[in-house]
Amino acid sequence: MAAALNGTPGVSPRRALIFLGPPGAGKGTQAKRIARTLGLLHLSTGDMLRDHVGRETPLGLLARPIMDDGGLVPDEIVLGMVAERLGRPDCANGFILDGFPRTLPQARELDEVLRKGSWGKPLVVNFVVDEEDLIRRLTGRRTCSIGGEIYNIYDRLPKVAGRCDVDGGELIQRADDRPDVIRERLDAYNVKTKPLEDYYSSQGVLMELSGVLNMDAVTLTLLEMVETGASPA
Ligand code: AMP
Repeated sequence: MAAALNGTPGVSPRRALIFLGPPGAGKGTQAKRIARTLGLLHLSTGDMLRDHVGRETPLGLLARPIMDDGGLVPDEIVLGMVAERLGRPDCANGFILDGFPRTLPQARELDEVLRKGSWGKPLVVNFVVDEEDLIRRLTGRRTCSIGGEIYNIYDRLPKVAGRCDVDGGELIQRADDRPDVIRERLDAYNVKTKPLEDYYSSQGVLMELSGVLNMDAVTLTLLEMVETGASPA
């Protein structure tokens, strides 16, 4: 473990990680922690799309109603955004994809991008959490409006109510973390994203992670998985 934390032996310098799992499974929180520890870039397609929505770019204007309804933004839009991002120099040491790929065409195209960029096979971690728990986490989630740090009214409160511990930003509830939209997002996950488990499993790159452990235990387990390339016994 110490080796992984120091970012030296056992940690490949060029690493493509994918965090797979339903909304609310803890992918974003853990991706931030692992990226910080291992010096990788955290790429969340949800954050990238929300940035476009906030800036009211043409892409953001197109994506907004789809995101507000809990659907998936068309593959070609997300793929273009990700391919461009992965080509930038700050990805060179490795990255964690959070919320991407979400469909089979996205996964196939990503394979192609990784192959062309000489990344080889990604390491895919599947976060497994039951649905009741997901709904509780999503309805309780509050997100920092500046840095995106994630809190929860049930089990991860900030030190000062309504303010982020890291940068003091206002904590807000995402528009799509409301119960009716959550149902749509979970349905989209079950229909379009869940098949990726078989896709990556058949390539021998899928590892399962129980997301029900506490946050620190999940981080330690993840670091071990990333370091050894294997699920814990
Ligand atoms: P997230 O922050 O990952 O929960 O994503 C928020 C919303 O952004 C999703 O509900 C989708 O509408 C959209 N989105 C994020 N990533 C993707 C993706 N890979 N493909 C399609 N839509 C996406």
